[in-house]
Amino acid sequence: ETFDAMGLQENLLRGIYAYGFEKPSAIQQRGIVPFCKGLDVIQQAQSGTGKTATFCSGILQQLDYDVVQCQALVLAPTRELAQQIEKVMRALGDYLSVKVHACVGGTIVREDQRILQSGVHVVVGTPGRVFDMLKRQSLRPDYIKMFVLDEADEMLSRGFKDQIYDIFQLLPARIQVGVFSATMPPEALEITRKFMNRPVRILV
Ligand code: AMP
Repeated sequence: ETFDAMGLQENLLRGIYAYGFEKPSAIQQRGIVPFCKGLDVIQQAQSGTGKTATFCSGILQQLDYDVVQCQALVLAPTRELAQQIEKVMRALGDYLSVKVHACVGGTIVREDQRILQSGVHVVVGTPGRVFDMLKRQSLRPDYIKMFVLDEADEMLSRGFKDQIYDIFQLLPARIQVGVFSATMPPEALEITRKFMNRPVRILV
C-alpha cells in the first residue's frame, strides 16, 4: 500500500512526501481512506503509530479551501499536543495553503479571537479554550463538518467529559466524527455510542 494509491489530491501528496513520509504506517493504511470518505472512525492506537497524520490527511483532503471558515475541529488533552498537531497539519497542508489555529489555554484570549475572526480552515485545541471560543461566538460552528477527538481516553481521564459533551451540543448535528484513543474505557465507548453514526472500527 502506498500514499499514491489512496486517491489523495496532488497537493496533499506533495505535502506528505515533503514532510519526509515515504510509506504509510499500518494505521494510515487502514485509516486514511475511510476518513477521506467521510465515515465516522474509531481508531484504537497508541501514540507513535502515525495517528496524527491519519486524521490530518483525512481533514486536509476534505476541506473546501475556497471557504475560509472553520470546517474541522480537533480536540487534544494538552496544549503541547494541540500545538504539535497544529504543526503537522500545517506541514502536510503546506501546498494547500491551509489555515490552522491552535486554541489552547494559557494564551491571550483576544489574540485567539483576532485570529479566528481573520478566518481559518481548521482549529486544533484543548476542550476548555475551544468551548470558551464557541461560547463567545468567536469560533462559529456553522461550517464545521469534521470533529476529531485525539487521545480521547486521556481527555476523559483529565476530566474533560462535560466540556466535550458541551462542545458536541454546539456543533451541527450531522458531522463526521473521528475518535482516536489508546484504550476504550466505558466513558469513551459512551461517546462513540452517543455521537457517532455507524463508526468503522480500526484496531492497530
Ligand atoms: P504519531 O503517532 O502521530 O504521534 O506519530 C509518531 C511518529 O511517527 C512521528 O514522529 C511521525 O512524524 C512519524 N510518522 C508518522 N507516520 C509516518 C510515516 N508514514 N513514515 C514515517 N514516519 C512517520
